[in-house]
Amino acid sequence: MKAVQYRKIGAGPEVVEIDAPEPGPGQIRLRVTAAGLCHSDWFLMDLPEEQYTYGLPLTLGHEGAGVVDKLGAGVEGVALGEAYAIYGPWGCGQCHACSEGRENYCPYAADLGIAPPGLGAPGAMAEYVVVDDRRHLVPLGDLDPVETVSLTDAGLTPYHAIKAVEHKLYPGSTAVVIGVGGLGHVGIQIIRAISAAKVIAVDVSEEKLALASEVGAHHTVVSDAGAADRIRELTDVLGAQTVFDFAGVQPTVDLSKAVVAVDGFVHIVGIGGGVMSAGFFQTPMGAAVRAPYWGSRSELREVLDLARVGAVSVHVERYGIDDAVEAYDRLHHGDVRGRAVVVP
Ligand code: NAD
Ligand code: ZN
Repeated sequence: MKAVQYRKIGAGPEVVEIDAPEPGPGQIRLRVTAAGLCHSDWFLMDLPEEQYTYGLPLTLGHEGAGVVDKLGAGVEGVALGEAYAIYGPWGCGQCHACSEGRENYCPYAADLGIAPPGLGAPGAMAEYVVVDDRRHLVPLGDLDPVETVSLTDAGLTPYHAIKAVEHKLYPGSTAVVIGVGGLGHVGIQIIRAISAAKVIAVDVSEEKLALASEVGAHHTVVSDAGAADRIRELTDVLGAQTVFDFAGVQPTVDLSKAVVAVDGFVHIVGIGGGVMSAGFFQTPMGAAVRAPYWGSRSELREVLDLARVGAVSVHVERYGIDDAVEAYDRLHHGDVRGRAVVVP
């Protein structure tokens, strides 16, 4: 089968021909119908050798959807031909966090050698992918896989961050969304769908800010030295009760700190390496900062249900698997509008 793999440190992704994987006991093989590209793929492909821990060769793709194609021994309750989205942050399935469906915070997964598809385990950017357990499949029903697949990360990750501070998204409050890429453009729609908060979107690119307005941002602000003042103006000097930083680089983390309101929340979602010092006389009184990771199983179901009622939709650039390298190049250069999705 064809697969998009990261094979050599520093070499970027390659389209290669490999054997299709076989499902082991309890596992399910999907014929992939769509796989999304995430900036985290570049995070790991940009790591120097001494920090790279994901194994080589690595089949990419931690946003996956497909149709059940083959069942491993003992799998019941899943029928051939059924369409599913893959819940990616696989945990041990037994601990307290996993019992709550919050497998993204399983404290045992790494030690047990359990890694998400595309981030350690073979991912979905291939003609076939093996899913470790049926609990990691969420039925797609009538949802179009190409339009939907990125909700498994670019939807789920912002949803998890936003839901954690839902009580701060009251009418009259302000939510700042920094970085209107794959995650950010869905995040804006989620805030609009579940709250009456005012949304201020921030990006370096005018095109991304145009997308922000299209998907529901009330105001847009260019990410430059004047951004904090502009946001203070738009919030009657109070700042924002919630800030979601989907870039996470030092300038955006600094901006988050500069605009968070008293008793507000900053979520650093982007993994650009920016850090924030928090404490008395550092951050506004009562303010909290958090670095959330992905989302829970029930939250993925909720995000798909938001799509079912038309409250969120991903702006998709569609590519064949042979054009995946070009799509990754566009993502690297910040040229993707919304999310790039490969259809094998
Ligand atoms: P993307 O490339 O699609 O979007 C990033 C956006 O940030 C772009 O629109 C870009 O123009 C904007 N940006 C870059 N620098 C900026 C700046 N200084 N000010 C304002 N905007 C700026 O990326 P994505 O796939 O949406 O991922 C976003 C980030 O989230 C990445 O760091 C990714 O690795 C990370 N991520 C984290 C999690 C998690 O669980 N925490 C999950 C998925 C992705
Ligand atoms: Zn991702």
